[in-house]
Amino acid sequence: MNLAKFPRRGYVKNPTPIEAAPAFSEALGGKVNIFIKRDDLLPGCAGGNKTRKLDFCIADAIEKGADTIITCGAVQSNHARLTLSWAVKEGMDCHLVLEERVKGSYKPEASGNNFLFQLMGVKSIDVVPGGSDMMGEMEKLAAKLEAEGKKPYIIPGGASNTIGATGYVACAEETLQQLFEMGLKIDHMVVPSGSAGTHAGVVVGMHGCNANIPVSGVNVSRPKDVQEGIVHKLAVETAERVGVKGGIPSEAVECFDSYVGPGYSLPTDSMVEAVKLLASTEGILLDPVYSGKAMAGLVDLVRKGHFPEGSNVLFLHTGGSPALYAYLDTFRD
Ligand SMILES: *Cc1c(COP(=O)(O)O)cnc(C)c1O
Repeated sequence: MNLAKFPRRGYVKNPTPIEAAPAFSEALGGKVNIFIKRDDLLPGCAGGNKTRKLDFCIADAIEKGADTIITCGAVQSNHARLTLSWAVKEGMDCHLVLEERVKGSYKPEASGNNFLFQLMGVKSIDVVPGGSDMMGEMEKLAAKLEAEGKKPYIIPGGASNTIGATGYVACAEETLQQLFEMGLKIDHMVVPSGSAGTHAGVVVGMHGCNANIPVSGVNVSRPKDVQEGIVHKLAVETAERVGVKGGIPSEAVECFDSYVGPGYSLPTDSMVEAVKLLASTEGILLDPVYSGKAMAGLVDLVRKGHFPEGSNVLFLHTGGSPALYAYLDTFRD
């Protein structure tokens, strides 16, 4: 794929490491070898997957003459934190619209990502009730800022449009090149599936490169069929944008929805176990909302014998560890 033709800012200077996780694999029975793609180590304040997407989205904003970024997310949004951090770096204003998906969950004094919003000097935070029309709210804010003479640019939730998902097409290419250099044959890839740009981009990149590595998404909110539909639609549109011919077969998009628990951002026992196990075996921090639940999925699939013995499975670590500090009570025994 010729991704060089799309404007980007160059936030991703080097490939993120692919690391073996031998002690973690052993703790899960030693029959499957787990490897971790460390996108939690991407640049941008405290790292994480949104940097790859913002690399393209903010380039588009700058090309369109914007001086102000508006985006949205949940009250502990990693995407909001990373968008703000790159806006700061670019000398742009950043305004956030936060959706209180769990009633009463927004606390101005909260730790985690919320603390970082304040620390990095967010221009404004509007908190709206769960289920609000987030694009409508952002458009209202944009109109207000335009009237004040600003040039706002709206980045959708999770930067999960075709521009942002292109960052994860690039990640798939980067991963394949690294695996070639390492001489490592991966049989399966597992990724968190939220606003869908990460999952869709990886599927397009792997499919477009004829990698024949199945990609499984682990949902953090929606039911399987709904999420598969959202990911597939974005994958088809992204494939068209980056020039992958022949579309994306619906079988290339597979989601697991058994690890969501009571709902988005609400803790589960299996998430707590996965976060503690990876921290105590490999010294790697997951997060309670995305990578922790996705890893809980991987742990369960390994224990159930979903992957044949001797398989090499690559987990995409999308970051999010600042959110841990907003969940201290969940991790106290
Ligand atoms: C946003 C996010 C995800 C999910 O990625 P999507 O592209 O929204 O599906 C996974 N992990 C972390 C830490 C995130 O912040």
